[in-house]
Amino acid sequence: MFRTDYHTHTPLCHHAEGEPEAFVAQALKLGLHQYGIADHAPMPPDAEPYDEWRMLTKELPAYYEWIAQAKTAAESSPLHVLCGLECDWVPGIEDWVHQLRAMYPWDYLIGSVHYLPDIGSVDDSLYADKSLTGSVEEDWLRYWQSMENMVRSGLFDIVGHIDLVKIWGRIPQGNLAEYYEPTLQALQELNMAVEINTAGWHKRCAEQYPSIPLLRELLRRRIPIVIDSDAHYPQHLSRGWKEAVALLQQLSNNNLKQFEHPVSGSSITLLAYGSL
Ligand SMILES: [Zn+2]
Ligand SMILES: [Zn+2]
Repeated sequence: MFRTDYHTHTPLCHHAEGEPEAFVAQALKLGLHQYGIADHAPMPPDAEPYDEWRMLTKELPAYYEWIAQAKTAAESSPLHVLCGLECDWVPGIEDWVHQLRAMYPWDYLIGSVHYLPDIGSVDDSLYADKSLTGSVEEDWLRYWQSMENMVRSGLFDIVGHIDLVKIWGRIPQGNLAEYYEPTLQALQELNMAVEINTAGWHKRCAEQYPSIPLLRELLRRRIPIVIDSDAHYPQHLSRGWKEAVALLQQLSNNNLKQFEHPVSGSSITLLAYGSL
């Protein structure tokens, strides 16, 4: 199995650390085949500063430079350095994502839902002990509606931490499939990849994104799965990769395979997992 990581950050987002050379050194040490850089994308300039945890639009050239430095560091090695962005899905963002796409030859874009429209950021510690909307059910409803819209926009290549709404451990009672079934259908229709984001193991929810039942559904429906660390530090690069592969092996009854998943409009292929 080739080892890959498509969701990693850079210091430009103000809550990550490490020089490009340090990330590349760690990638080489771990034997990574592809190291994908996908930092928090800027929001439209007329909305800036949007929050404290992303680069500004005017900092994009510094980001390109950071990526170029990583590519130089990996030059005479078998490691492929890929460049992407982790974009935020909020209503009305489509035009801006088109503009971002055109600014640089990205290999892929990750689409994430961090914000509930007009309410707040689901992973903000402000909501560690209270719901965003007043009810867990409402949080989940709104989150998954946004997620479905994000997938249906067709603007992104990989879904970031698909069930992030569980981050603080608040999960509604009853059948959760009601919340995410429309998203699963959209994923199938668009053949979009979903990441196992291993950072979830280190959050209060203490499990990977997506949950086991969701992962089972992804495998059953043959939705491509990639394994990502969401690393904000070199030492977190590809963290939990072996455990994630083992989990997928188990859920696919030892019929796990790795396959090439082409990205439309890009020359690269992602390496994804699925059941035989
Ligand atoms: Zn981050
Ligand atoms: Zn994220």
